[in-house]
Amino acid sequence: MIKKIYIAFASLVAVVAALVFAGPASTVAQKHQHTASEHVRRRAAKARKRVRQHAVKYVCPMHPDMHSKSRGECPKCGMELVIEKDKGVK
Ligand SMILES: [Zn+2]
Repeated sequence: MIKKIYIAFASLVAVVAALVFAGPASTVAQKHQHTASEHVRRRAAKARKRVRQHAVKYVCPMHPDMHSKSRGECPKCGMELVIEKDKGVK
């Protein structure tokens, strides 16, 4: 009789523990999953925007490492920056 009560109590404890630990954990996991997918989507959109913005790049004819997003002069030699040819690198 006492053994039966003990088993019932133990299973009750197990159920409560499962609810306490698995309940909030699963909620957090769901929340995190949502946030993660949202984050990935936003990051992908940002990356696409960045690719579009950098589609046209200006570069110094003498210093190919001098890149600029806008028209201007090379800070190293003062030459006017020219539109860099798309090398297929995206
Ligand atoms: Zn230059």
